[in-house]
Amino acid sequence: MQRRFRLIALLAALMLLGGCAQPSPAPDDTFTVVTSFYPMYVLTANVVGDAQGVELVNMAEQQTGCLHDYQLLPADMQALERADVFVINGAGMESFMSRVSEQFADLTVITASEGVEMILDAYGEPNAHVWLDPARAAQQVENIAGALAAADPQRAEIYRQNGTAYAQRLRELGEELRAQLADAPRRDIITFHEAFPYFAEAFDLNIAAVIEREPGSEPTTQEIARTVDIVREAGIKALFVEPQYPDRAAETIARETGASLYTLDPIVTGELSGDAYEEKMRQNAATLLEALGS
Ligand SMILES: [Zn+2]
Repeated sequence: MQRRFRLIALLAALMLLGGCAQPSPAPDDTFTVVTSFYPMYVLTANVVGDAQGVELVNMAEQQTGCLHDYQLLPADMQALERADVFVINGAGMESFMSRVSEQFADLTVITASEGVEMILDAYGEPNAHVWLDPARAAQQVENIAGALAAADPQRAEIYRQNGTAYAQRLRELGEELRAQLADAPRRDIITFHEAFPYFAEAFDLNIAAVIEREPGSEPTTQEIARTVDIVREAGIKALFVEPQYPDRAAETIARETGASLYTLDPIVTGELSGDAYEEKMRQNAATLLEALGS
């Protein structure tokens, strides 16, 4: 769907370049749902399911990762132009929202994290990565389903049924993984990028240190040295990197301390598939079991 949209956008751009500006295509019956980034796409895809006449478009490239400092691209603006609703995570993840509401004052925005209990950082700001707790992700799904039902009443029943079923599956997934991890003898983890406090809370893990506050901000040598001390003092054997970000600092710390590197996936990139959240969470739990188990 995204590819088809790109083609349309390209054709429209060519026509503009050619000096024959066309009015935008006539509105049709398609209900277009645009999601801000990968995890919102995956959750929303399960709510939409196979509802007829609904087009689901992910705005940011699926390999973009978190949107913390994301700048909207012309293609994003064109996607929003066509949107009937825009599903965002909220809690500050989409830092470009003031521009969106300026430009698209009438666009219905669905904030998936609304009413979800937030974990605050040292500065009192909410951490945005709420979807990494399956129970909170289930709440996000219910929010999305309720808001889609309100925005598109003719398919309300489908959204509600799909949303209820998927939210239930996510809660069960959370309980299943919590049970799997309950007996892991070690609970301290060190991560890179502040994506995991909700995950840690869900599975009773303790984040002993976060090495980079956000992707792209390299830790200083003092920060690395301090982390090496934490790893040594706490006897931490496992460091968790993310597939999306380079791990030079992690490699340095691993070399200095003899700890092993493992990959935890914050589910911000991947295949645009409805099963992705459950698969990646299971993989994360398996990784943790291996890393903390012995
Ligand atoms: Zn992030």
